Amino acid sequence: MPKSDFSMRDQKCRFIALLSALLISSFLFISLVSYFSAHKSIAAQVEKTTLPLTSDNIYSEIQRDLLKPIFISSMMATDTFVRDWVINGENKHEEIIHYLKEIKESHGALTSFFISEKTKTYYHPNGVLRKVKKSNKNDAWYFRVNDLAADYEVNVDADMAYKAKLTIFINHKIFDYSGGYIGVIGVGLPVDSVQTLIESYKERYGREVFFIDKEGLVKLHGASYNEPKDIRKIEGLSAIASQISSSQNSAISYKNNGKTIYLNSRFIPEFNWYLIVAQQKSEDETRIQNILITNLLVSLAASIIIIFLVSIIISGYQKRLEAMATTDKLTGTANRQIFNALFKQASTHSKRNKLPLSVIMLDIDYFKKINDEHGHPAGDQVLKEFSETIKRIIRESDSIFRWGGEEFLILLPDSNIKAAHKLADKIRLTVENMTATFSGKPITTTISAGVAGITDTDTADDLILRADKALYTAKENGRNRVESAVSSET
Ligand code: GH3
Ligand code: MG
Ligand code: MG
Repeated sequence: MPKSDFSMRDQKCRFIALLSALLISSFLFISLVSYFSAHKSIAAQVEKTTLPLTSDNIYSEIQRDLLKPIFISSMMATDTFVRDWVINGENKHEEIIHYLKEIKESHGALTSFFISEKTKTYYHPNGVLRKVKKSNKNDAWYFRVNDLAADYEVNVDADMAYKAKLTIFINHKIFDYSGGYIGVIGVGLPVDSVQTLIESYKERYGREVFFIDKEGLVKLHGASYNEPKDIRKIEGLSAIASQISSSQNSAISYKNNGKTIYLNSRFIPEFNWYLIVAQQKSEDETRIQNILITNLLVSLAASIIIIFLVSIIISGYQKRLEAMATTDKLTGTANRQIFNALFKQASTHSKRNKLPLSVIMLDIDYFKKINDEHGHPAGDQVLKEFSETIKRIIRESDSIFRWGGEEFLILLPDSNIKAAHKLADKIRLTVENMTATFSGKPITTTISAGVAGITDTDTADDLILRADKALYTAKENGRNRVESAVSSET
């Protein structure tokens, strides 16, 4: 194969590589750009719309339940009966017990209570009275409330005394008419509807709903909540957890275990808590991820098909170009360009296997005369028919080259000079008896041939020169004859 063919192959490979890179990178670029812009708008939608809306919904649904115990307690704290009864010396215990019992039953509370600052008596609907003591750990909350800046504190008991039910306890300060502190009053109210709501958001939308206090401690959460109870210890959130307590509302996102989590918070002043709604990934995101994968697969398939088709087309053109570059247009035989490559192959084969190799140099006799008498197209016709005839006579392993105008060279692997001479003579005889016709006119012609066989030291030029000389001799000796080169023994 000539050197130029290799560089053509190289060029083809380079072109295919460039095309592949171009196709794949543009498909990749388009797919990724559309993915990321869709991703961005989905993330923005989740952060700015979906989660705040969820937060609003949840808040409006739970507001009544959450605030109810506060309302009841503040109503109790301003009740004139209670205050009068305390101011008047806490005399008839059954009166306050009756009051607490009424409150408990009419609001479906788990408990109601009043602790007097003056007597330290703990009044309870079931009538059992006891004294709170600073030394009693269970009573510590009472002495804590005394120091509160706010009027009341909220305690959530989700898993202690009333296991199944989430209960909100309100410890409300109570004052006399001149603002003197007279004790703590309040209720414990079950709010299981909040719990139910949290669970249903988790189940329906995969959204985690929970409440945290200003310190970031989780105060209320659903059954499936399994992150740390301190949000500053949640992976990815720790660094930005303080953002939540710095504003009434915030929308943040963070990475947890490689997944993006969107989080929305809103402050609930009555509780001093934040309602948090968090969502791992929206359905839309999963959908666009699937679209991205589909896009990439389709792009890859399209690229492969395009590259495959282009490479077939290029190979086809390449073959045609190669054929054009190495074939004589008029006669369809090989031309001189490809001789060197084929000769090298044949001579290497011959040397390696110690086999003979011969060439025949042919020239049409008085060809000029044919052109002169019948015209140039007639000469072309003779050349065509002549080369067709030779092609039919030679073996498949032999090759014929158009060497010059009406001069042809035949390369005969595995043939010694005698066999070559015999074949040349067969050609000569066939041509002699052949009649070409042009425009209905018969044209006859003869050929002369020189035959040479390769020696160990021969180059292509040496061998051809000897064949040329033999041809010259054949012409000298009267034409329409075959001469073998004398210097060769093969
Ligand atoms: P001889 O070989 O017997 O000595 O005589 P000749 O007439 O064949 O002599 P020469 O080789 O000098 O002439 C070859 C002629 O072939 C000259 C040229 O015009 C003609 N020729 C070369 N190529 C073509 C071709 O492609 N078509 C035609 N029609 N003629 C060609
Ligand atoms: Mg001639
Ligand atoms: Mg000639």
